[in-house]
Amino acid sequence: MTQEELFKTLIAHCKEYGFIFPSSEIYDGLSAVYDYGQLGSELKNNIKRYWWEAMVRLNENIVGIDAAIFMHPRTWEASGHVGAFNDPLIDNKDSKKRYRADVLLEEYIAKLEEKNSKEVEKARKKFGESFDEQKFCETNPNVLRNAKKIDEVRTRMVKCLNDSDLEGLRQLIIDSEIVCPISGTRNWTEVRQFNLMFETKLGSVSEEANTIYLRPETAQGIFVNFLNVQKTGRMKVPFGIAQIGKAFRNEIVARQFIFRMREFEQMEMQFFVRPGEEMKWYEHWRNARLQWHLAIGMGAENYRYHPHDKLAHYANAACDIEFNFPFGFKELEGIHSRTDFDLGNHQKFSGKKIQYFDPETNEGYTPYVVETSIGVDRTVLAILAHAYTEEVVQKDGEEGGTRVVLRIPAPLAPVKLAILPLVKKDGLPEKAREILTALKFDFNCQYDEKDSIGKRYRRQDAIGTPYCITIDHQSLQDNTVTVRERDTMQQERVPIASLHALLTERVSLSNLLRKL
Ligand code: ATP
Repeated sequence: MTQEELFKTLIAHCKEYGFIFPSSEIYDGLSAVYDYGQLGSELKNNIKRYWWEAMVRLNENIVGIDAAIFMHPRTWEASGHVGAFNDPLIDNKDSKKRYRADVLLEEYIAKLEEKNSKEVEKARKKFGESFDEQKFCETNPNVLRNAKKIDEVRTRMVKCLNDSDLEGLRQLIIDSEIVCPISGTRNWTEVRQFNLMFETKLGSVSEEANTIYLRPETAQGIFVNFLNVQKTGRMKVPFGIAQIGKAFRNEIVARQFIFRMREFEQMEMQFFVRPGEEMKWYEHWRNARLQWHLAIGMGAENYRYHPHDKLAHYANAACDIEFNFPFGFKELEGIHSRTDFDLGNHQKFSGKKIQYFDPETNEGYTPYVVETSIGVDRTVLAILAHAYTEEVVQKDGEEGGTRVVLRIPAPLAPVKLAILPLVKKDGLPEKAREILTALKFDFNCQYDEKDSIGKRYRRQDAIGTPYCITIDHQSLQDNTVTVRERDTMQQERVPIASLHALLTERVSLSNLLRKL
């Protein structure tokens, strides 16, 4: 299966099994808006809990809040979003399709990079053992030409973006001979700026109405509460404030399923530090956040750091943690050193003093901020895409054919165990329900007695349930059950009395937290 086919299959699977539905589907959906179904919301909640506990519970100097989505409109002037939260847009006159100019250019660069990787792979096959990749890249004319082009386009693009040179961006698209993927033509409009914030009105009578925005990031709810939290929590710098919540952006190029949505959820932590110490903390959080990802167990090779080409208006250092999605390496999380930009501006715009008095140095200052910002939905997508597997079953005691299995790491899996009486009679359902009653307080369980046991195993594989517990006639005699593990399909016979301890050891969230 190609990556593209895999991605389509995954989207269909998510819908079929109750993970993710298109929003308001009976009205044909709403573009780039999705609803999480019964299993998707469990998965999402587990991810959020993993993040929250890693931040708030494991760090004595980080606390969590839950700020409102609506904020005073001046917030967004102070944050720079009213003036600078824009995407450069370009339309193709023939297809009438709209694109982000920087995305068109980045895709063009990615194509050149792919061409070069293919050249390298071809040569590696040809030369075998003796292949020297560095030398090849330094001498092969095709690779050199592409590398030069990549460099040129990137440098020009970054300059245009930094200078807000819209005409320059258009010229670069034309010079690079980029065509519209739909119409195949180079008939482009001018590039225009488009603000990504959604507006709405506050107040019931239109004359009283006041334009407010749906927050495009959760961070500002933390900045405006800096003093409230610092004072009431008696927090000492360095300390952090964490928050999980919805954010809204009127994305132009909204595609790739839940990767780019118009309503999404962020998990952000702003860490307040002494001015001058921000680089030390930036390094610290860069490492700590990668560790959080690696503990999930999806392979170090699927993550990489990507330093920002263009720093945002507020940052003095920034990088992304990228994940290898089915459509390539793309941003999953951003780590930004935001200086005192936000607190300083809120002080200016509100006229209220936002300062911290440091008892150790006996001085007052506006703290600097290092921020970690990760998308919940992109994490869901990374986990599902990595988990989805189709495999041929050749195992005794299992139905043959192919099975679809979601290898979701057990501590994050939506359902932890399925409780399955082998047959629907002879007292087995009653015994199974007794076990369910004992375990349901600590684990999300599913009870299922319909269809053959093989079919029930398949259903649980398809939703990523790590353990199936089967109650058979022997269970009535000796109080033991079989426990089947999802990935290996191995079964073991264990006493019912030991189930709780066994599951705690294998599926609880603390397994991930202990790795941090
Ligand atoms: P991109 O470059 O992909 O637009 P960004 O750099 O604008 O992302 P940030 O503002 O740094 O993103 O937001 C932090 C995180 O929020 C991102 O790493 C991503 O996981 C998530 N995120 C941002 N925009 C979206 C979106 N439209 N849909 C889903 N998640 C998003």
